Amino acid sequence: QAKTMGGNVFHLYSEHLGDSSAERLHLENELHNALEKHQFEVFYQPKQSLKSNRIESAEALIRWNHPTHGLISPVKFIPLAEEIGLINKIGEFVLRTACIQARRWSSRGYGDLKVSVNLSAQQLKAEGFMRLLETIIQEAELAPQRLTLEITESLLMDDVEGTIRKLQEIRDLGVGLSIDDFGTGYSSLSYLKRFPIDILKIDQSFIKDINNNSDDAAITKAIIAMAHSLDLRVIAEGVETIESREFLRDQNCDLIQGFLVSRPLTNDQMQVLLADNVA
Ligand code: C2E
Ligand code: MG
Ligand code: MG
Ligand code: MG
Repeated sequence: QAKTMGGNVFHLYSEHLGDSSAERLHLENELHNALEKHQFEVFYQPKQSLKSNRIESAEALIRWNHPTHGLISPVKFIPLAEEIGLINKIGEFVLRTACIQARRWSSRGYGDLKVSVNLSAQQLKAEGFMRLLETIIQEAELAPQRLTLEITESLLMDDVEGTIRKLQEIRDLGVGLSIDDFGTGYSSLSYLKRFPIDILKIDQSFIKDINNNSDDAAITKAIIAMAHSLDLRVIAEGVETIESREFLRDQNCDLIQGFLVSRPLTNDQMQVLLADNVA
């Protein structure tokens, strides 16, 4: 039952939301108040180790629980929030919520479970981000090693030197870093080894058709081999079939995330899954 909830269900009824400019303006106005109206909800999608088969981590994924439109996908409102300057506040909410939640998992016996949070470029650039990050971790009483920030390749490529310094500060706190949607951006491979990252996330567009498309299979194999030779771990996202999981296992991929393991879950659903995972 848990597996039928969350995920992309909301796409069914909010697909065209915000497509017309009038709708967009309306959505934009409502977005300004969504935080104080407590309309955001953080879902968690498990990541499974292909070595131990255990749930090792979960990615925090925001949804907008809109009073009339239902759950709205972050694909619809995160770019808007970035455009109108709301992403820092929304991102702060997700970060705090996820850290507090991870702390609760440990008090219920899942002390090793990590959490990852998507970070927009604007958040990293914001004055005082490091202090904010430190404060949130401290207030949640979370071991920093249990938090990973997911950043995209495009974020890395503007102001490379400045970004490396900031990422190094994050690593110095003990917080992990992963590159999201890897393979879709423009990051130069020669820079890759200079960024203080831990994990590469192979974009789901390569994974979707991996058992039928030999190009996707070749690219995925190459990314895994390259990551390992740079001492990075690799996670494949968008894993939906047993066949793709077995392909990835054969290639020595470290972790998988996708509907095969679980859709993004509410807090309560996550507790149920964890109970099964440990039992
Ligand atoms: P992402 O970080 O790459 O997250 C993975 C997306 O793939 C999620 O979509 C997840 O639900 C979806 N997914 C996971 N497994 C599968 C699968 O097996 N098949 C398919 N078809 N899809 C799968 P979601 O939750 O709609 O999020 C979309 C994007 O919105 C995220 O992509 C991320 O870029 C952004 N986002 C979500 N939450 C936040 C947030 O708190 N802050 C920021 N800045 N961005 C966020
Ligand atoms: Mg992500
Ligand atoms: Mg991704
Ligand atoms: Mg994405």
